[in-house]
Amino acid sequence: MIPMLKISGANSFKIKDSLVLSRHSIVSEDANRQFQCDCACEGGLERNLAGFTVRQMLPESKPRKLAQLFSYNLEQKILYYNPQFDAGTVILDQTADVILQALDGESTLTELHKNILELDATANFEDVANLVRSFEFNGLATLDETKSSPRFAPLKKLGVWMHVTNQCNLRCTYCYLGKTSEQMSFETGQKVLLELFESAAKQGMSELSLKFAGGEALLEWDLAQALNSWARTEAARRGMLVESILLSNGTTITAERARQLKEHNFQVAISLDGLGTANDVQRPFINGRGSSRYVERGMLLLQEYGVPFNVSVVVTAQNLAHLPQLAEFLLNRVQPIPFTLSFFRDNPLAENGLTVDNPALIEGLRKLYAKIEEILASHAPTFSFLDTLLDRVQLSQPHQHACGAGVNYVVVKHTGEISTCQMLLHKPVGKIGEGKDLVQLIRAKGQNPLPAHQKEGCSSCQWRYVCAGGCPIVTLRTSGRYDTRSPYCDTYFTLIPEVLRLEALRLMRVAGI
Ligand code: SF4
Ligand code: SF4
Repeated sequence: MIPMLKISGANSFKIKDSLVLSRHSIVSEDANRQFQCDCACEGGLERNLAGFTVRQMLPESKPRKLAQLFSYNLEQKILYYNPQFDAGTVILDQTADVILQALDGESTLTELHKNILELDATANFEDVANLVRSFEFNGLATLDETKSSPRFAPLKKLGVWMHVTNQCNLRCTYCYLGKTSEQMSFETGQKVLLELFESAAKQGMSELSLKFAGGEALLEWDLAQALNSWARTEAARRGMLVESILLSNGTTITAERARQLKEHNFQVAISLDGLGTANDVQRPFINGRGSSRYVERGMLLLQEYGVPFNVSVVVTAQNLAHLPQLAEFLLNRVQPIPFTLSFFRDNPLAENGLTVDNPALIEGLRKLYAKIEEILASHAPTFSFLDTLLDRVQLSQPHQHACGAGVNYVVVKHTGEISTCQMLLHKPVGKIGEGKDLVQLIRAKGQNPLPAHQKEGCSSCQWRYVCAGGCPIVTLRTSGRYDTRSPYCDTYFTLIPEVLRLEALRLMRVAGI
């Protein structure tokens, strides 16, 4: 059977000039950077091994366009996105799209080529094969239907929250931590790390992602730095890797700290919720004064010393309306600053009135997205928006859980007690020195980390592998259940296409289209 090629009127049809644009087409250091969120969630660590190794295209190959593709018309192009694959947004021009639509799984490449020749007499078989190969590489088509749904590789990375101090110089309105002046001792940190290395190795993991946090981790910088250096030496001895992350409010960064952060290979997540008073009302110092200008000074120092960092924003009823100005400040600069948005997670210590309902969230975030689109007209950042603009939604690669809680994430309190999430520091599931395998401990005692396909409402959702049902603690606190969809589902479902659209626009601007 010969596939029908449908082209509209006056379009020129030259297969050699066709466009398939994805993040894989643009070489950039930033393109695949993983950004850190304020709550140290460890989502997106499960790699997709969907078997999409690009196979040889033979004359008798019968490629098929995948059924699960999301598509959207955008400025004479077509945006495609496969939520079960890790290519991100893929942009086709009309020529490439005509070919993709013709891949019906029944026609051979030879038949397809023959038909294309009627529209483009210069097309040779290799041109057609190359185009179909790039569809397969970007998760749009397959030669093997049995491998078109995601299969997840064993987890290789263990996320660790190292709660080096319980003190903080700020008093944020939404903070879940009961602050004290206690801190972790070096000996406790060392014992924890040893147990974590042992446990990770037993579970077949080869990397520790160490998040030094608190409280304000920079108040215990010497300890964090010493533990980090020790962990890196120990990891090298064991043939393992360490990724070093510092979560900070940014107020105490000096030139010397920035230099040391760079020297010791730290990535930093800086909390900032808005410009000026928009930040200060929810992130004041203990004495009530605003913190924003100190944070801005800290960010400039990190940029000056070349420390990779992103801003982590908590979205509340207080700052939602001010997010467009923050985006303008962060993105409209010579070196744009990436930022991630996390929705406020209610907790017993937070002030009242910070939660935003879905209609208000959707409206507020749409205003932010409109501002980002306006900025993109003149200025396209090289970092991706796929994992940053919609709370726990991570569009860069499929994953089964919204975060690593109860899966591959261990929270260590300054006392050596172990929890499954930093919001559950007050509910430890064990302690170091008890002879227990820490990863097994959080898996056995953690509260039911259900994958999205087992959650009510999510199991057949097209976004289950990118949203994964949202933060399980928020869901539990709102509905009393873990096994159901997020209370923010309406926001996720409505806005995922809009984030994909922004990312596609960004890619097109970066590529000069
Ligand atoms: S349970 Fe929620 S707050 Fe805790 S790590 Fe996961 S997403 Fe973050
Ligand atoms: S929370 Fe909603 S958007 Fe997310 S996977 Fe579940 S049903 Fe889909």
